[in-house]
Amino acid sequence: MVEDSHASWVPPNHPRRESLFIRERLVDGFRDGYVAFQGLIAHGRGECFDYLVGESTIPPALTAERVAAAALLTASHPVISVNGNTATLAPRQIVELSKLINAKLEVNLFYRTREREELIARVLRESGAEEVLGVADDASCTIPELFSERRRVSCRGGIYTADVVLVPLEDGDRTEALRKMGGKTVIAIDLNPLSRTSRAASITIVDNVIRAIPNMIKFAGEMREMPRDELVNMVRNFNNEENLRSVLTFIRDRLSELASKGITLEFPKP
Ligand code: ATP
Ligand code: MG
Repeated sequence: MVEDSHASWVPPNHPRRESLFIRERLVDGFRDGYVAFQGLIAHGRGECFDYLVGESTIPPALTAERVAAAALLTASHPVISVNGNTATLAPRQIVELSKLINAKLEVNLFYRTREREELIARVLRESGAEEVLGVADDASCTIPELFSERRRVSCRGGIYTADVVLVPLEDGDRTEALRKMGGKTVIAIDLNPLSRTSRAASITIVDNVIRAIPNMIKFAGEMREMPRDELVNMVRNFNNEENLRSVLTFIRDRLSELASKGITLEFPKP
């Protein structure tokens, strides 16, 4: 359940209460100056795909979350990339996950401004982060073949040198560029299984960031004591193509079932 300052005006029995709270978080982040206009639109697209999966974590997403936790636990230099939407949706959870897996946090923005990157770093620090990379002059290395502001990254052991990068809410272009750099396992969280991000990542989690990060915290906590070999094998045996096919099959079967059962709401006869 998302706890919130909007509880007073969203009716307690509103059927879309949770979704409205989450939307308000985006609006708060926007008003506070660190969620971009475009971030609001991106959220709407995510909501649409969330309907298709039934607004819950589907089995292939759980598998990907488990494998992602294994990849992060066995990484030498794991980094979590944070943008405005992620900072407003799951700030404390992102920091908690970073501590659990010993990952660095790096601000990375498509619509980069000095003000937004500093605000996001502040949100993360207020949520318990000790170090936040990718702010101001720190973001002076560039990802090759990438022309948006997302190419700017920290040279201080962040995304540039990471072996495993978690990119919640990424742009497809950059996911591809990170993969092309070679030597990086790119973990994406994206509700759209058809986006370029989903198709380019090494491990794609088709789930809402709101659910995916807490699941990964749980799995990382449970798997920390597992033998390293077992974790490495979990990652090695994972096939992203197959997992994405399972996602599409799940959505297809769910829609077929809904189409055969009917979906209109029942009301008393006049
Ligand atoms: P791509 O650049 O990967 O081809 P795109 O251009 O269609 O994708 P973008 O606008 O770059 O999409 O990014 C928005 C993506 O983020 C959408 O695919 C959307 O489904 C996803 N998204 C938005 N909000 C969430 C969320 N809360 N959890 C998970 N995914 C989300
Ligand atoms: Mg895009």
